[in-house]
Amino acid sequence: MIHPARIQALNRQAPTAGRYVLYWMQQSQRALDNHALEFAVRAANERRQPLVVCFALVDDYPGANLRHYVFLLQGLLETRSRLAERGIRLTVRQGRPNRVVPLLADQASLVVTDCGYLRHQRAWRQDLAQKLNRPLIQVESDVVVPVELASRKEEFGAYTLRPKIHRLLPEFLQPLTSTPVRCPSIHLELPGEELPLDPAGILSRLRVARDVPPVADCPGGTSRALELLERFAARRLNDYERLRNDPTRDATSRLSPYLHFGQISPLTIALRVRRKKLPAREAFLEELIVRRELAMNHAHFNPWYDDLAGLPAWALRTLHEHRSDPREYHYSPEDWEQARTHDPYWNAAQREMVLTGRMPGYLRMYWGKKILEWTPTPEEAFRIAVWLNDKYELDGRDPNGYAGIAWCFGKHDRAWGERAVFGKIRYMNDQGLRRKFDADGYVRQVEKIAKRFSRAAAKSGQGTGHP
Ligand code: FAD
Repeated sequence: MIHPARIQALNRQAPTAGRYVLYWMQQSQRALDNHALEFAVRAANERRQPLVVCFALVDDYPGANLRHYVFLLQGLLETRSRLAERGIRLTVRQGRPNRVVPLLADQASLVVTDCGYLRHQRAWRQDLAQKLNRPLIQVESDVVVPVELASRKEEFGAYTLRPKIHRLLPEFLQPLTSTPVRCPSIHLELPGEELPLDPAGILSRLRVARDVPPVADCPGGTSRALELLERFAARRLNDYERLRNDPTRDATSRLSPYLHFGQISPLTIALRVRRKKLPAREAFLEELIVRRELAMNHAHFNPWYDDLAGLPAWALRTLHEHRSDPREYHYSPEDWEQARTHDPYWNAAQREMVLTGRMPGYLRMYWGKKILEWTPTPEEAFRIAVWLNDKYELDGRDPNGYAGIAWCFGKHDRAWGERAVFGKIRYMNDQGLRRKFDADGYVRQVEKIAKRFSRAAAKSGQGTGHP
């Protein structure tokens, strides 16, 4: 059964006749453990109709560049094959969802969609809900507990959301069964022009920002995510709590890009990890469910989730009181981007992100705090952090990224002892890094990564284009 709290009618259109049920895949870009897909399969079977899945590919997805598009297309290609194995056709269309979905919806009896929490995703759904003369049903599948059921308001921190989520977990941490399809749609005639799913061909048609190269050793797709999950559960979970803050130990799951693109469900991960009877699983489930769903709560309820204005009043006040404090260092956006600060640890973290699309979790906190410390105003510091995070992280442009950056500026945290520039915002320094792990060893590790990238670029006759 799909829990009714996951399902929401987005308009009041009456059921109509049609040739198929349409699932507009927005956020949950996978065939496995996808509640919206299973809901759509069951609705199609009840009507004895085929199910068509459509994906709208836009050139100018906010903040995305070649790095993100390649990862997305790799995932979509696999999802198309997995759907085809079940007799379901995935059709990819070029253009904004509110332009391309109505054409397909005109011949559908019902339209189903999933749920992303960013403002443009919400706006597309709202626009479609008004435009369509078919029922539009949203099925929330990228969180363990539906966001509005977990809480009806913006939460102060993990400590206020945690008990609400934990109370609901027994109901929601339940496996999802996949229903066989009654009427295949593979050979169905569909209106409008389809994009052939060949990534190179598609990329040559799209006017995508090309300034950030794809990451060769981090391919997108559900299979790769499942491989990482197995490796993590078998080899790293045991030491997760002890080693996760040490970036030289590679102790975390590396699943965040796959979660970001909906190529794996948090439910799949949580159920797999829960089977391991290890104490460390609780620490991991806290990050995967409570912290991640706190970020969804932030994006859902806070209209300024990606801006300094989204901070709590105490944090804004204290930052304002310290607005004129002299900054020990001042860096321009180019200095930040090119990793040209005086701080070898900050530079190494930035270089790792630029080259590999990933910065280890503990360093992300330090990275954000230092941007605040060495930028003339907190407003500018917030903007720079969002810009770099969204541009280079494979998992960027995500509620987790906006909540993580906001955390560096006091969100979901409490007041600490007062000091220059930060006021009462929690402070971090390089001595703290050295106490936690071999910070110089980390810098050497990133130098090796940079050399590896330079050698690969020299071989292919291209520069890395990066610091
Ligand atoms: P693991 O430790 O293996 O955790 C498993 C999953 O739990 C992660 O994939 C993630 O979905 C979730 N998770 C872990 N830590 C957090 C956290 N602190 N908050 C919320 N969810 C968490 N995460 C992103 O997904 N995208 C971002 O753009 C992003 N930017 C960040 C920026 C800053 C400044 C900060 C402080 C944090 C940011 N995070 C972001 C949160 C976190 O650092 C990453 O999710 C994590 O490092 C990803 O690595 P992993 O998948 O190996 O995590």
